[in-house]
Amino acid sequence: MSDPLHERDQAAAALDLVNRAAGPYLDGLADRPVHDRSLDGLIDELDGPLPVKGDGTLAGVERLLRVGTEAATHSSGPRFFHLVVGGSTPAAMAGDWTASLLDQVTGLWVTSPLAARVETIVLGWLKEMFGLPASYGGVLTPSATFAHVTGLACARQWWAERHGVDVVSEGLAGLPRMPVFSSGLVHASTRKALQVLGCGRDTLRTFSRDEGGRLDPAALEAALEALGGAPAVVVANLGDVNTGDSDPIAGMADLAERYGAWLHVDGAFGMFAALSPRTAHLARGVERADSVTADGHKWLNVPYESGFSFVRDPAVMGRAFGSWGSAYLPDGGPGEINYNMLGPESSRRARAFPIWATLRAYGREGHREMVERHLDVAAHLALLVERAPDLELLAPSRLCITCFRYRPPGVPENRLDDLNARLGEALLADGRVYAGTSTYRGMTVFRPATLNWRTTEADVELLVEVLRELGARLTAG
Ligand SMILES: *Cc1c(COP(=O)(O)O)cnc(C)c1O
Repeated sequence: MSDPLHERDQAAAALDLVNRAAGPYLDGLADRPVHDRSLDGLIDELDGPLPVKGDGTLAGVERLLRVGTEAATHSSGPRFFHLVVGGSTPAAMAGDWTASLLDQVTGLWVTSPLAARVETIVLGWLKEMFGLPASYGGVLTPSATFAHVTGLACARQWWAERHGVDVVSEGLAGLPRMPVFSSGLVHASTRKALQVLGCGRDTLRTFSRDEGGRLDPAALEAALEALGGAPAVVVANLGDVNTGDSDPIAGMADLAERYGAWLHVDGAFGMFAALSPRTAHLARGVERADSVTADGHKWLNVPYESGFSFVRDPAVMGRAFGSWGSAYLPDGGPGEINYNMLGPESSRRARAFPIWATLRAYGREGHREMVERHLDVAAHLALLVERAPDLELLAPSRLCITCFRYRPPGVPENRLDDLNARLGEALLADGRVYAGTSTYRGMTVFRPATLNWRTTEADVELLVEVLRELGARLTAG
């Protein structure tokens, strides 16, 4: 085989292969282990020298599907509790396939008014869901990390302008370090964004009043006051990865206002607290932030990759990311938004389609119900942990996260970290259920996150069962 032009009549047949694999794959997700290491060897079938003559469309796709459906980590199934990972609702997945089918050049109005308008539509819907003013600017990003880069680049632009410097043309040279303050709940990706932006990851200072990383508001205020009126950036965290805990956003918004600071909110998954009356109070104050980060591939249950950045003053986005200065890139006319001038990407896919599809299919109510089911599942897990004599709950379940460790009677405290780390490895090797470990208040802990639309109480019951079974085996041996 050679030139794909000779195979143009195979395009629909190739997609039909994917379609026929999809049913059995998706139906099987509930029953299969999250990962079966004995199947990793199959990946060899994708290796080898670059083919000189290709296999042809159907044979190539067939091989990828055969290996992929077996050797994949089935993280879109109901028992992947590692990191903070959502699934993909049926409508979102179909919307994502549509994005591939239509393959829109997304970023400039002229190349796809369809993709640009749908991006505007979903950003409007998301602002409404999150309680953000409609006047906020926004852009879809690949992830929360990229949304941080977007929001913090806007913060940096604003901050440098306050020092009389246009950082887009002049860079950071000659400026002092940009002060960035947060609590100990801050996520590693905030530092990564600061490092990418040339601000330096260590410019971030955290003010915590306890080992769990919760904010010390007085210390934050003292740091802001000590700047003597110089501008600063405050990062508030809505939903942390260890326990789901949140900073007092409204209080931080008060401080930011009082000291003229830029308030950036990391609501990667926590932003979805705004959907339920049970948790909406946690998000109060977000509507006063200067920039807000959230993810689509987490609690919205849209496939990877999907994130969003919102910025109070849309003009700052244009200053931070426009100014291409390239004659072949057309400006948009009135009402024609070029989204690649509002964020770090140039070429991009129609990331809005899966978001549109899931919001259109299930609406605000459907997504609220899903979020509330996950609150219940996390609470159920906390109850199971409390009842188990060999498990220790370390924080109340908050949002979709439950933090605990394995603590069988008789094992001394100084051996627990090692035991939990080994149990974590055993859990991943077992593969029936996936959850990762972290460090919380100096302890090695499990912090499963339950935010996949497929996940129910039975799935966390299996997590507890498998952990206790493997734990008993480790302590017996
Ligand atoms: C996951 C997460 C991030 C980073 O998100 P990506 O989409 O992986 O870039 C940032 N902050 C918090 C609180 C997160 O949970």
